[in-house]
Amino acid sequence: MDIVIMGAPGAGKGTQAERLEKSLHYTHISTGDVLRKEIASGSEAGKKIAAIIDNGDLISDEWMLSILKQVVAGIKGSIILDGFPRTVEQAEMLDKMLAELGRKVGKVIEITLPDEVVVARLSARKQCQLPSGEIKQIGPDFSLADCQAQGGEVFVRKDDAPESVMHRLSVYHKQTEPVLDFYRKAGRFEEINGNQTPDAVFNELVSVLKA
Ligand code: AMP
Repeated sequence: MDIVIMGAPGAGKGTQAERLEKSLHYTHISTGDVLRKEIASGSEAGKKIAAIIDNGDLISDEWMLSILKQVVAGIKGSIILDGFPRTVEQAEMLDKMLAELGRKVGKVIEITLPDEVVVARLSARKQCQLPSGEIKQIGPDFSLADCQAQGGEVFVRKDDAPESVMHRLSVYHKQTEPVLDFYRKAGRFEEINGNQTPDAVFNELVSVLKA
């Protein structure tokens, strides 16, 4: 059973999806990470993607789906999608694509968080780029000391700058919130309060998944 984890930027989707990958053996796919890897490769496509991401806008549905399709096709077990779908069109495309691969979205879980907490979290957020190129978020699961010990470099995502954050939040409310209704109507939707410790959010997630 595949899972979609939703929530505003900074709600903790990536952190929780990584924990689920470690403890319940899902494969975590973050479309944001996939795009950032393409940017890091220095390709022409990566340059176009960077301009869109840095502004806080969305990559087109068709382009995003074709990128995602290549990633999903190589995976055997259950997946946890983080950052996709972000529009109702993407949600419809996802159902079709997964059906073609003999898969389906079993559960959709939204981690909720008030806007003012999102803004506070994102303006304090830092990342660590490891010598391998892998990017980790500094937080409870990967500290600043872990980053330094592994020879990483600390940086702030361009799209975590205050102007981008406000724009990303409005994109979330306008374009992504209708996706929640899409799944609510389909009866596969659950909500979890993200304004608690990562451990508490994780425990709730696991009980929803095991229910
Ligand atoms: P994230 O790491 O999930 O916050 O994603 C960072 C940025 O990548 C977003 O603000 C978008 O510009 C882009 N992005 C990630 N996922 C998608 C998607 N499903 N559709 C369109 N753009 C996306």
